[in-house]
Amino acid sequence: MSPGFVARATLRCDNPGDDSLSLVAGPVVAAVTAEVVPRPRDGARLLEGAPMAAEIRGRISDEVSSFSNRHGFRPTLAVVLIGADAPSAVYLQQIVRTCERTGVTGRVVEIGERVTTALIQRRIDELNRDPLVSGIIVQMPLPRQIPLRAVIEAIDPRKDIDGLHPGNAGLLTLGYEGFLPATAQATVEIVKRSGYRLQGLDATVIGRSNVVGRPVSLLLQREHCTVTMCHRQTRDLSAHVARADLLVVAAGSPGLVTGAMLKPGALVVDVGINVVGDRIVGDVDFESALPVVEAITPVPGGVGPLTNAILLEHLLAAAHAQHDEAGAGRTGRDEPDSGDQTGEGGPPAVPSAPGADPSASG
Ligand code: NAD
Repeated sequence: MSPGFVARATLRCDNPGDDSLSLVAGPVVAAVTAEVVPRPRDGARLLEGAPMAAEIRGRISDEVSSFSNRHGFRPTLAVVLIGADAPSAVYLQQIVRTCERTGVTGRVVEIGERVTTALIQRRIDELNRDPLVSGIIVQMPLPRQIPLRAVIEAIDPRKDIDGLHPGNAGLLTLGYEGFLPATAQATVEIVKRSGYRLQGLDATVIGRSNVVGRPVSLLLQREHCTVTMCHRQTRDLSAHVARADLLVVAAGSPGLVTGAMLKPGALVVDVGINVVGDRIVGDVDFESALPVVEAITPVPGGVGPLTNAILLEHLLAAAHAQHDEAGAGRTGRDEPDSGDQTGEGGPPAVPSAPGADPSASG
C-alpha cells in the first residue's frame, strides 16, 4: 500500500462530486495553445474548475435576466487595458466573452500609446461615474512607469470587483465583508467545493503577492487553517512544503514543487500559469505529484476557469449593491472571525502519514 493511499484514507471528503475528466482551456491558455489535461494515476483526484464555473455561470445568467427585467439594463464589466500588451489583451478579451455568455455586457477600455497616470485616473473616474458600469478590472502588469497604487486607488471600491483597492484589502484583512481577489477566492473555493474540510489543516502558501498569495493566506486563516507563507527569501522551501496538508503554489516558476517534496495525501492547488515552449504548465511538476497527492488542480483547467466565474459573481453583487434599494449584493461576510472559538465543531481532518523527504528540492 502506498503512503499516498494511507493518507487519502484519513482525509475527509464530504462531497466527492464529479470526477469526470474533460479538455479544459483556462483563460490564458487558448491564447497560446490548447492542451490536453493529464489524466490522474494512482487514484489522485483532479480538482477541475470548469464544471464548477459552468454551474456558477448558469446561475449568473438567470440572475442577470431578472436584474435586467427589474432595472432595464444589464450590468457592465469594464476591462481597462493599459499600454500594448498583446497576451493580456487576449486574456481579457476572453473575460469579456465569458461575460457575454452570461448576458453581462463586457466593455474593453483601451488606454494606448502615450499613457500617463493622470489619463488613466481620468478614464477610471469616468467609469466610476457611469451608472451602467458595475465593475472595473485593470489589466496587470501595468507598464513600468505607471504606479500600481495610483491606479487601483482610482477605482471606486464599490466597483473594485477584483478586490485590489486598499479598502477591500483592508476589509479582507480584518475579516469583514468586501470584494475578494477572484483568483484567491477561487483557490480556496475549488478545494471546499470538492468537499474537503479545511479546518485545522497545515497549509503552506508559496507566493505573497497582493493578488494571489497574500489574500489566499488570509482566506485560509478564515477557514481555520494554520498557514505558513513562503516566498523567494524562504530558506528551506522543501521543509515547509513537506509538512503541508494543503499546498497552494502561486509563484510563477514551473517545476518549483516536485512530487518528492510533497506530503503524501496532500491537497495541492497550483495557481501558476507558465508558458514552457508551446505548453502551459503550473508551478508543480504534475507528473511526479500525481502518485503522491490526494487531489490536485490541473493546469490548465483548475483555478483559471473558476476565477472568471467568480469575477462575474462579484460583478452581479456589485450591480445589486449599486442599484437595489436594500443593497442586496453579498460580497463576503458581515462579521470578522471571532477567534479560536469560531467554527470548531470536532477534530480536524488531516493526513496522518509522515512527511515526504524534506531534503528533496525543486
Ligand atoms: P508575482 O510575481 O506577483 O508573485 C510571485 C510570488 O512568488 C512572490 O511573492 C515571490 O516571492 C514568490 N516566488 C517566486 N519564485 C519563488 C521561488 N522560487 N520560491 C519561493 N517563492 C517564490 O506573481 P502573481 O501575480 O502572484 O502570480 C503567481 C502565478 O499565478 C503566476 O504564474 C501567474 O501567472 C499565476 N496567476 C494565475 C491566475 C489564475 O487565475 N489561475 C491569476 C493570477 C495569477
